[in-house]
Amino acid sequence: MAGTDCIFCKIAAGEVPAAMVHQDGDFVAFRDINPQAPTHVLVIPREHIPTLNDAQDPDLMGRMLLFARGVAEREGLAERGYRLVINTNAQAGQTVFHMHVHVLGGRPMRWPPG
Ligand code: 5GP
Ligand code: ZN
Repeated sequence: MAGTDCIFCKIAAGEVPAAMVHQDGDFVAFRDINPQAPTHVLVIPREHIPTLNDAQDPDLMGRMLLFARGVAEREGLAERGYRLVINTNAQAGQTVFHMHVHVLGGRPMRWPPG
């Protein structure tokens, strides 16, 4: 079930422009339009999965994690450090309901997150 009105589906399809970082047959990585760190990339599955709660395929989820790791490596963050975030539903602040991994780095990250 493709999200016909989903902004991230449109980015994955090339129908809405985005600053692409990397892509393969299953995932797309592009720069966040409102970056919260010097490096802020979003990794999405091409498949429209609204939230992590809806994810079914452990292989796809595992490969998404390694794809996000690869983005961090390409961005030169692997040794310095980086943070992966998946906001899920309202209280976590999810605003786009096509699941995505935030890859954040290039500055010290605080803990606990806000
Ligand atoms: P969430 O709050 O759902 O975890 O994260 C959604 C993210 O998507 C936000 O950081 C927001 O800046 C980003 N975003 C929303 N719309 C667009 C868009 O059209 N293009 C890009 N590149 N990022 C977007
Ligand atoms: Zn979508």
